[in-house]
Amino acid sequence: MKIHEYQGKELLKKFGVVVPRGFFCNSVDDAVKAAESLGGKVWVVKAQIHAGGRGKGGGVKVAKSLDEVRQYAGQILGMQLVTHQTGPVGQKVRRLLIEEGADIKKEYYVAALTDRATQKVAMMASSEGGMDIEEVAHSTPEKILKVFIDPAIGLTDAQASELANGIGVPAASVGKAVEALKGLYKCYMETDASLAEINPMILEGNGNIKALDAKFNFDGNALYRHPEIVAYRDLDEEDADEVEASKFDLTYIALDGNIGCLVNGAGLAMATMDTIKLFGAEPANFLDVGGGATTEKVTEAFKIMLKNPKVKGILVNIFGGIMRCDTIANGVVAAARETHLSVPLVVRMKGTNDDLGKQILKDSGLPIITADSMAEAATKIVAAVK
Ligand code: GDP
Ligand code: MN
Repeated sequence: MKIHEYQGKELLKKFGVVVPRGFFCNSVDDAVKAAESLGGKVWVVKAQIHAGGRGKGGGVKVAKSLDEVRQYAGQILGMQLVTHQTGPVGQKVRRLLIEEGADIKKEYYVAALTDRATQKVAMMASSEGGMDIEEVAHSTPEKILKVFIDPAIGLTDAQASELANGIGVPAASVGKAVEALKGLYKCYMETDASLAEINPMILEGNGNIKALDAKFNFDGNALYRHPEIVAYRDLDEEDADEVEASKFDLTYIALDGNIGCLVNGAGLAMATMDTIKLFGAEPANFLDVGGGATTEKVTEAFKIMLKNPKVKGILVNIFGGIMRCDTIANGVVAAARETHLSVPLVVRMKGTNDDLGKQILKDSGLPIITADSMAEAATKIVAAVK
């Protein structure tokens, strides 16, 4: 799960990382009021969307007067912000962060993330922070320093100063940078984040170290123990069909092909998508109905798949283990009736009660095509959509 920058900064602040003073708002008038109450002469108007690259896309503007705050807030709020992370359609800006301006002497990059290769938490840092960090990672990866952390010990002072010194933080500010890095690590660990990134972390003219941006990703499987993080969820930023699916405990991800697939189990769902590709077509979605699919769940799954206008056929692939094939067959029949299914449907089921399941499909009188092997199922659905 992702959150907004202003929420990320709230978290960082709780863990002792210094952030600029600022206010979240969602109207132009409130943006001006926020700037007034912050005081000072320079403010930053920042679009809040769940994607990076806002600066380059025109979603971050430095204002030198209250009139400019009004002007930029008006421009950014409601705009369709396109960045290299949003895709060509972009993301509509519904929220703003108004912050006091910072006196930037140097921009650094720091992040904590889960490193699969070493099965450890890695802290990364670079002297080349700011808007081109992807380019730095690509062409001069040696400019990104990494330390790997023993979870039983945590980020040590030695490791944190190795990073701070390594990216060239001036000696007088190393202590502050060490505090920021340790706060970032603690925040990452205690919130069950999978990524916590500050880009840029800045050195100010007065020697202070501040987080000017905050990007978080949280492990969805750990959210049950973080109601305070779940409260940050912004459904406007998430794919509507995926949100709808999650209400029914379905894991759905829309893709570009034309064959909808409904499968129980993530591994089997991946194998099913591979098989569709192997036989020359493309899946329209990933959809895992999980272990305990009811008729209602299967019906919802059909509805969500069929909302996608690209779907020209559906392949149901079920392994009946704990889940019985007759239960799924009843669900498929009910769903096909309720949705007035008008595209070809191929069903392959194996395992507990598969004979009963096939009989139910046959007795339904619906034009359901059955198959025994995955190859047969894929061949039939690919032929049916062509
Ligand atoms: P991103 O492009 O989505 O990563 O958004 P950031 O929050 O990182 O902002 C982009 C850039 O705007 C930063 O790298 C800074 O150079 C600049 N920026 C952000 N906040 C301030 C600020 O308070 N003052 C000034 N002068 N620049 C800022
Ligand atoms: Mn940034």
